[in-house]
Amino acid sequence: MAVLEKLTSQQAIDLENKYGAHNYHPLPVVLTRGEGVFVWDVEGKKYYDFLSAYSAVNQGHCHPKIIDALKYQAERLTLTSRAFYNDQLGKYEKYVTQYFGFDKVLPMNTGAEAVETAIKLARKWGYEKKGIPANQAKIVVCQNNFHGRTVTIISASNDPVATENFGPFTPGMLSIPYNDLSALEAALKDQNVAAFLVEPIQGEAGVYVPDEDYIKSAYALCKQHNVLFVADEVQTGIARTGKLLAVNYSGIKPDVLILGKAISGGVLPVSAVLADDEVMEVIRPGNHGSTFGGNPLACAVAMAALEVVEEEGLAENAERLGNMFRAHMQKLVETTDLVKLVRGKGLLNAIVINDSEDSSTAWDICLKLRDNGLLAKPTHGNIIRFAPPLVMTEEQLMDCIAIISKTLKAFEK
Ligand SMILES: *Cc1c(COP(=O)(O)O)cnc(C)c1O
Repeated sequence: MAVLEKLTSQQAIDLENKYGAHNYHPLPVVLTRGEGVFVWDVEGKKYYDFLSAYSAVNQGHCHPKIIDALKYQAERLTLTSRAFYNDQLGKYEKYVTQYFGFDKVLPMNTGAEAVETAIKLARKWGYEKKGIPANQAKIVVCQNNFHGRTVTIISASNDPVATENFGPFTPGMLSIPYNDLSALEAALKDQNVAAFLVEPIQGEAGVYVPDEDYIKSAYALCKQHNVLFVADEVQTGIARTGKLLAVNYSGIKPDVLILGKAISGGVLPVSAVLADDEVMEVIRPGNHGSTFGGNPLACAVAMAALEVVEEEGLAENAERLGNMFRAHMQKLVETTDLVKLVRGKGLLNAIVINDSEDSSTAWDICLKLRDNGLLAKPTHGNIIRFAPPLVMTEEQLMDCIAIISKTLKAFEK
């Protein structure tokens, strides 16, 4: 069986280079196994995972409870399509809506699909409830956002690498600076705006945490102008930032909530769009769908993954360890010239390396961190994101802080 054939790291890398499209630039490490906060490469070396698959593996690798649910359901029924009912979807829909406090959910698979779904939902609401003239609806987005990779979503992006030569783009996207309430207020004066789509913390951009009142005030502005507040919590949601949702810090409930990544604990592609009836009721049979969206395997896995978050107090753990982590990184900022600053919330953090954005320093540091047993990845040149699984213990975190400090200090010359 092909899956049992043993490869060296170099062989595995060569295969990907030769037969796969070059749409990523991975750190050279070839992983074969994961458990909790750890992963192992094909030569048997053990690492702390400090990326968690972009915050999809919040519950830790191969969490036994989630894998049990996967195995159980995999042997019973995996896919019916939505042409028929199945006995897991309704249970999951009740569970996930009560868990996050919404009337209804629309189940999808990837984060990008859920963002697309939210855009379609917001537009339809705009025409049918707000009275926007046909085909005039606008979605306000923020500069340096990351919402995914489809044509419509990159139409809202200002990242040249993500957009160049992929046009023509979807019209109706209005981009304003992030963390700028007066820009938002000006944009919302346009009667044709259906929604404001925003990340409560910009993850991919480099973990940009906005001002403390930004989300709350942005929400209030949306209410004032009858515009839907759509929160993309694909990366910040599910306990990552120290609360169940990052918007919980602002005490608001978005009109539309987009989730993905950790909703399955990194086991399957599962995403969700949540909204109350007043919004979700504009979707009627045939308007939207997905063959795999809401499949029984995904439903069983997602329920187990969300139970783990609650049972193991992952939000509280993320908040506590996050505070400790930033305090230690702050000491490094003060004692070395190499690290300019640390920022983040909970266990979604980043350090900014004191070098130009096109320097290879952050990449070289990540290679050294790998050699020292910790896997992290630069984002946007000189920024390194640190986002371990939320099941990490304090002792493990201290071990990781020691590895990071040692590595950074060795780098400074
Ligand atoms: C990762 C991410 C997405 C896209 O999710 P995919 O599953 O990769 O399509 C959307 N929004 C945010 C904020 C993300 O971090």
